[in-house]
Amino acid sequence: MTRVSFLDWTFDADIDATREAYRGVDQCAPEECGCDYCKNWVLARGSMYPASILEFLRDVGIEHPCEAETWEAGPAKSGGRNYAGWLHFIGKITAGPEPRDSHASPNNPYVDVGDGFNVWFWHGAHLPLDRLKGHDLVQVEFYTVLPWLLDTPEPP
Ligand SMILES: [Zn+2]
Repeated sequence: MTRVSFLDWTFDADIDATREAYRGVDQCAPEECGCDYCKNWVLARGSMYPASILEFLRDVGIEHPCEAETWEAGPAKSGGRNYAGWLHFIGKITAGPEPRDSHASPNNPYVDVGDGFNVWFWHGAHLPLDRLKGHDLVQVEFYTVLPWLLDTPEPP
C-alpha cells in the first residue's frame, strides 16, 4: 500500500493491483448502458476531468477513468446537463471528512476542484467492475455539468 493524499483526504492505495484490474478494460458503465445520456458522457470524457483529478487518479493506479456508474440529472441552470457518477480504486481511506448522508447525496462533503467538477470519497463500493470485486475499495464520487455533444437534439 502507498500513502496518497488529495484535498482533505489520505488513502492507502494498492497502485499495482488497481492498474492490473483496469488493464485492457474498455467497457465502463456508460459504454455498457449505451443510452443517449451515457453516449454523451463518453463523448465528454476526454475533456471533463480536471487535470488535478486525472493526476490523482494516476497516483492511485487509474490511467484512464472508467466509471462504475454514471447518471444524468436534468438540465443545468447554466446550460448543459447535470451528471454524477463514481469509480473505484483498491485501497482504504485513512483520514478525511466523513459522509453525512447516503453515498450519492449532495449533503456530502464534495469539494469543487475547478470547472464545477465536485468530488468526494466514500468507504465501500456500489456496482464495482467485476475485476475489482473482493478488494477493499475507495469510491471516488463526483458531480459536474457536461455540454450536450451528441448530434441528436438535447432533451428538454
Ligand atoms: Zn445510460
